[in-house]
Amino acid sequence: MFVEPRKQALIGGLIDVCRAVITVNADHLSELDRAIGDGDHGTNMRRGCEAVYAERDRIMALPLPQALEQIGFTLVMNIGGAAGPLYGTLLIEIGRQMGKNGEQADFPSVLEYAVDAVARRGRAAAGDKTLLDVLYPVYTEVLRRSDLAGIAEEAERSAKLTFGMKAMRGRASFLGDRSIGHVDPGAMSCALLTAAVCRFLKEQGSA
Ligand code: ADP
Ligand code: MG
Repeated sequence: MFVEPRKQALIGGLIDVCRAVITVNADHLSELDRAIGDGDHGTNMRRGCEAVYAERDRIMALPLPQALEQIGFTLVMNIGGAAGPLYGTLLIEIGRQMGKNGEQADFPSVLEYAVDAVARRGRAAAGDKTLLDVLYPVYTEVLRRSDLAGIAEEAERSAKLTFGMKAMRGRASFLGDRSIGHVDPGAMSCALLTAAVCRFLKEQGSA
């Protein structure tokens, strides 16, 4: 199967920047998770990124939709914890929706479908203090056709807003009101990843 070198470089670059940002921030993510969870979010995300990195060459040989789907499967199998199936679902559904619609895929619609699939998987809604509190605002920015810097800023701002929320899903929900006053680790990892992806895509565009 022939895959354009430019697209191969794109998927390889995405794998690398996501792995890098999680490696640098793993301790911070686990620290956030120690406050309202079990302290393993950084370790979990790192395990997932390393597993994807180990399959980098194989993934790069796939067309973009299948590559994204494969990354999703690898994340489900390797992140462990609640975040695995959620990040996995996001990537699998983005890949599947892109695959269905080919080059004409309308990215906002693709993302809307994938984010809703994550919400269904986690039985979570906006305001529940989860990674969805970053994914929904990111989707809104994508829909508004904001530029990449604007999307990254909104992701980071949204993660910080989880500080004031009460957790309704996942381990943090066991704390009830005591979960208020802490940033959600999954929201933070999602914002870091979004910002890293946006930075990378911006560099690619200007290259
Ligand atoms: P675990 O909670 O199993 O230790 P992680 O620490 O890796 O898993 O991930 C915790 C993060 O997963 C939370 O900060 C939250 O953002 C997200 N999360 C947990 N449960 C749900 C859920 N039901 N729906 C959406 N997101 C969730
Ligand atoms: Mg945890």
